[in-house]
Amino acid sequence: KITLFWFRRDLRLEDNMGLYYAYENEENVLPLFIFDSEILDKLEEKTDARVQFIHDQVQKLHEALKSYSSSLLVRKGSPLEVFQSLIGEYEIKNVYTNRDYEPYARKRDREVESFLKEKNIPFYDFKDQVIHEKEEITTEKGDFYKVFTPYSRVWLKKFKAAKIEPVSLDGRKNSFYQTKPLPLPALEDIGFEKSDIKIPPLDINKPLIKKYDKTRNFPSLDGTSRLGIHLRFGTISIRKLVVEAARLNEVYLNELIWREFYMMILYHNPQVVDKAFKSQYDQIPWRNNEKEFDLWCRGKTGYPMVDAGMRELNHSGYMHNRVRMVTASFLTKHLLIDWRWGEAYFARKLLDFELSSNNGGWQWAAGTGTDAQPYFRIFNPESQLEKFDKEQKYVKKWVPEYGTDDYPKPMVDHKMARERALSVYKKALGK
Ligand code: FAD
Repeated sequence: KITLFWFRRDLRLEDNMGLYYAYENEENVLPLFIFDSEILDKLEEKTDARVQFIHDQVQKLHEALKSYSSSLLVRKGSPLEVFQSLIGEYEIKNVYTNRDYEPYARKRDREVESFLKEKNIPFYDFKDQVIHEKEEITTEKGDFYKVFTPYSRVWLKKFKAAKIEPVSLDGRKNSFYQTKPLPLPALEDIGFEKSDIKIPPLDINKPLIKKYDKTRNFPSLDGTSRLGIHLRFGTISIRKLVVEAARLNEVYLNELIWREFYMMILYHNPQVVDKAFKSQYDQIPWRNNEKEFDLWCRGKTGYPMVDAGMRELNHSGYMHNRVRMVTASFLTKHLLIDWRWGEAYFARKLLDFELSSNNGGWQWAAGTGTDAQPYFRIFNPESQLEKFDKEQKYVKKWVPEYGTDDYPKPMVDHKMARERALSVYKKALGK
């Protein structure tokens, strides 16, 4: 009989909690990865650097498992159907995996778990992608926190009290299922093509993190860690990173707490996927002008910081955090376009797309989210440029025609747009 370990967003052997427990507790552990057609078939573009990244990691795991005389079982399909077929192919004792908190993943896991239960196959899941999950950080009354600062205080307190030690597979034994290498589909076999977009390397750059608080706000600097995609797919262990962060820079650590805050918000409020966190904001009558949306997407608004950000995103799959805030504010406030449109566009383009953080970031910008920031604070894209890209290095990198006649005039007047947004928000909120 075999134990299946099901990899999802935890694509590493090192310090992987579910895998560690399978390896410690069981014999004949066969790791499994499913290219989930429920997710992949919805992607609009067949060249997607994220799918290629996953494929590369799957290939690496397949290779690494050879040194244990084992392999990785790789399938494509809907996970429930894959399990329905696997029980005919293998004698399965139990299934181990790591918990995933997104609404789709929770539904998927419940379905797989109940199917396996009917067959008397236990399904064990573990905490791996966060330090504190679900109900671990609550108010004294047991509610979830709706505001970041008190949440982060409790998060830190619990973190300091806990001893976080990375785990590794015991080299004295080999609990993996012994097999010749199993077939590995090529990227093309799962319906995708190679992309030219480069993935930031997996590297905890200690000197950079050490001065992160001083460099992180300036988009022309290489001042942030670029670890987003590695956190998203678990090629880095959050425990390892957090331990380093706590040593090196508390401002950086704070950002990792934001990541867990938004995951916790999504877990307790799955409706935020398509609704405002503060429901009264769903009354805003968005203008939703498609031509204006298109100018924003292509980086042709006539506001250089907005345009630089959108072009950076389109070209590289990345946008600096400061600029994400400016572009998102511009779309929702200056153009009064529904934050869900912007959120969906970022979701298509960002290498580090994370449902919880993207949703949290967009709702923050639109003023509809958890943050106490009042709706009437509207970013001025010109003064953001003045403050954070004074020498215009970032803007000139992405918008080379800036300052020439080829650069478009601003598509809306800042003062008019600001007043329009204020009055629309006020009216919708009955103020
Ligand atoms: P660093 O600045 O080096 O931070 C390290 C890690 O901390 C990040 O990789 C990320 O995991 C986490 N982090 C940092 N800032 C935040 C934050 N504000 N909220 C939550 N986690 C954070 N982040 C995503 O990971 N995925 C998204 O899809 C995403 N969409 C966003 C959309 C908008 C509108 C906004 C304003 C922010 C969004 N963010 C998102 C947060 C943030 O911009 C990115 O995490 C960061 O820019 C990624 O670059 P980095 O890896 O160099 O981060």
